[in-house]
Amino acid sequence: MSGARSLPFEEIATASPETLGLLMLKSDLHAARLDNVAQQTAVSDALADGAATASDLRKRFPGLSPRQIAGELQVTVTTTDDDPLVGSIWRFAEYRPRPPQILLYTHGLAPLEHALGSMLATRLLGKAAMQDVFIAHELYHHIEATRAEMPIARRHQATLFQIGKWQWRTGIATLAEIAAGSFAQALLQLPCHPKVLDFLAAEAIGSTRGVHPGNGAGLRFDA
Ligand SMILES: [Zn+2]
Repeated sequence: MSGARSLPFEEIATASPETLGLLMLKSDLHAARLDNVAQQTAVSDALADGAATASDLRKRFPGLSPRQIAGELQVTVTTTDDDPLVGSIWRFAEYRPRPPQILLYTHGLAPLEHALGSMLATRLLGKAAMQDVFIAHELYHHIEATRAEMPIARRHQATLFQIGKWQWRTGIATLAEIAAGSFAQALLQLPCHPKVLDFLAAEAIGSTRGVHPGNGAGLRFDA
């Protein structure tokens, strides 16, 4: 998200999932067309969908790690050494549907792992391993791509423009990211919505790579 440094990290780390979700929506061009009440409703729906999907999966696979659940669902988990940076997008992980695959960017995750250390990892992730957070996030994308329900990104639509009775409407892609984070938080019982990791990464990457002038605030993070 752009403007990642505009709030002190301490404020981000203690923010509620609703606050983080709204922050994420504010950076979505289409979501900006929804009024405040509609934005709050959309965020609540996305958070609830992620949590409910995690609860269903937990019942199906009690005690399994995200990696093991991926195995049960025939989703391959692999790593790549590819450069995580494409334009201004920093990739942590990615879901590819055909064949179903979760890709972890080794060099994308490394600065975050370093920044987390052991103290911050316990505080932000509880007992979960960092990679598991991203595998869980991608599992949500897999489940959304393979189930019958309408994707969360299409359940809330913004009107692009209107002429007479004709309306051009668009879905809101960020809602899937809010839901995927909520899914990971519920599945792994994380102390906070994993969006906080983007803010931490922005600081860590900004100080180690001269890719953007000054800091990592110009980066967008992708998982
Ligand atoms: Zn995602």
